[in-house]
Amino acid sequence: MKKIAVLGSTGSIGTQTLEVVRAQKDIEVTALAAGSNITRLEEQIREFHPEIVCVWEEKKAKELALTVSDLPVKVVCGMEGLIAAAVETDAEIVVTAIVGMIGIRPTIAAMEAGKDIALANKETLVTAGHIIMPLAKEKGVKILPVDSEHSAIFQSLNGEDKNAVHKILLTASGGPFRGKTREELKKVRIEDALKHPNWSMGRKITIDSSTMVNKGLEVMEAHWLFDVSMDQVQVVVQPQSVIHSMVQFDDGAVIAQLGTPDMKLPIQYALYYPERRFLAGDRLDFWSIGQITFEKPDMENFPGLSLAYEAGRTGGTMPTVFNAANERAVAKFLNREISYLTITDMIEGAMKGHTVKEDPSVDEILEAEASAYDYIESRW
Ligand code: NDP
Repeated sequence: MKKIAVLGSTGSIGTQTLEVVRAQKDIEVTALAAGSNITRLEEQIREFHPEIVCVWEEKKAKELALTVSDLPVKVVCGMEGLIAAAVETDAEIVVTAIVGMIGIRPTIAAMEAGKDIALANKETLVTAGHIIMPLAKEKGVKILPVDSEHSAIFQSLNGEDKNAVHKILLTASGGPFRGKTREELKKVRIEDALKHPNWSMGRKITIDSSTMVNKGLEVMEAHWLFDVSMDQVQVVVQPQSVIHSMVQFDDGAVIAQLGTPDMKLPIQYALYYPERRFLAGDRLDFWSIGQITFEKPDMENFPGLSLAYEAGRTGGTMPTVFNAANERAVAKFLNREISYLTITDMIEGAMKGHTVKEDPSVDEILEAEASAYDYIESRW
């Protein structure tokens, strides 16, 4: 039996990870963690019997401990608990499916304990890639991408010479507002932004996809994961979401991974890498697809992507500020406090006001995060 810990088990990626576990039947779940959804956690505990479960909120953790007192499970809380869930069991893989920079410390702790990481929590790489990637090398642990684009790149690189990579071609659907002008985008409501044309995901990432900020975070994620410069990552809009990403090599060859939009594929690939297993679901039918089209991303009407390139090229604490400002802005948008276009205005403002710190430590990353939050609160 393979053993895994799932941090963020109640979310979109977390529940799909458990669907893979349920279907495959040869994975044991030793630890689970979530923010506050103890109803779903209880169901997961009763089905998967983990040894340890973390609930971020202490009050909820106490409530859950009472509800599952008939079971031999340890319930912990807060950052200490999250780290315990990441390291205390003999899981070989920790699936990081938490949303936000809260994922940095448990990911580092898990790597230090020699565990491989199935990484969905892109914020960890975006803000602390300079810590995570060398640590993976030092500890001899694998960072297995769960993000569908990065999994596609990872699959396209299988057996290839990494030094012969010319470019990463990161595909993007363009989101629900592709082709819209800034004037039209002024009127966007939450309900419109939460409708992704092809993928079903958590609320925050769905908004990020609509602003192209998610694609920007993915460019930075690819830069760290595949050791290429920001400018070697080219975003290609491919509205049908059939090609999940591609790699262009020095000899001109392009290798791509294609599939239906189902996150269980990259999740399962990460859990069983390098084995490829059967996965139930729809298959691509090229006769009915008919055509796959390509476009250049519209960075003028969607400045989230150009700001991400700027943040990634600048490096240091700038990607943290980009990410933190976006996180706070999206929360405000979802709370109906700001308009849609203000999201990227906030990111731009926070980046302009920031003095970059090179090669930041985890504490300095978290300080930059806090100062971006303060900036947003003081201006908006
Ligand atoms: P969701 O919002 O659906 O789920 C987030 C998960 O994190 C929930 O289990 C939530 O618990 C948990 N969580 C939140 N705060 C904490 C905390 N402080 N401590 C412990 N757990 C916490 O997000 P997604 O699944 O959509 O995304 C997760 C990550 O994966 C993000 O980084 C995203 O960018 C990335 N990703 C997602 C994809 C997708 O298809 N959804 C695709 C590629 C990457 P609770 O339910 O209790 O709040």
